[in-house]
Amino acid sequence: MSLIEEALSAGDEQADACIKGYAFGDRFCAPGFCHATSNFLAGTFKGYFDSSDQLCLSTSYAFDNIPSDRVILQSFVDDYCLWWSDADHDCSLDVQERLPSAFRRRAMKRFQELNTMSAEEKGKKRCYMEHVSDVEKEDCQALHMRYDEKKDLAYFE
Ligand SMILES: [Zn+2]
Repeated sequence: MSLIEEALSAGDEQADACIKGYAFGDRFCAPGFCHATSNFLAGTFKGYFDSSDQLCLSTSYAFDNIPSDRVILQSFVDDYCLWWSDADHDCSLDVQERLPSAFRRRAMKRFQELNTMSAEEKGKKRCYMEHVSDVEKEDCQALHMRYDEKKDLAYFE
C-alpha cells in the first residue's frame, strides 16, 4: 500500500467515528450527513479492522444503532468476508461469538454467495454509496443493495 493509499484509508478509529457519526445523523434526521459519512467510508475504508476488539465494538454499535436497511452495515459484512482467513486472529471463536448475530447471519449468506457464484457474478462490482438521487443511482453501473426485511438479509441486483 502506498503512502497516499494509506493516508486515504480509513483506519479503525476513523471507521468507528463514521459509524457513530452515521448513527448520530440518523437519530437527528440529517440524511445529508449520513450520506456524506457513509460515502466517505465507502471510498476510504481499507476493508478490515486492525483490531478484532474494535471490529466487535464497532460492528455491535453499528448494528444496534443504524437501521438494518442501510448499505453501510452490509459493507462491513462484505469486507469482513472478503478479508477473512482462518489463519487470521479475527477467526477465533471468541471474536466470532462477539460479533452481532445479524452480522454473522449476513456473513453466512455472503460466504454462501461467494461459494456458489460464477467468476462473472463475482466480478460484478457492488456499490456501497448512498446515492442522493435516482438519476445519480441510475448513472452508477454497479449493483445496488435491496434489503429484505422479512429475512433481514441484503441482496445486490
Ligand atoms: Zn451506485
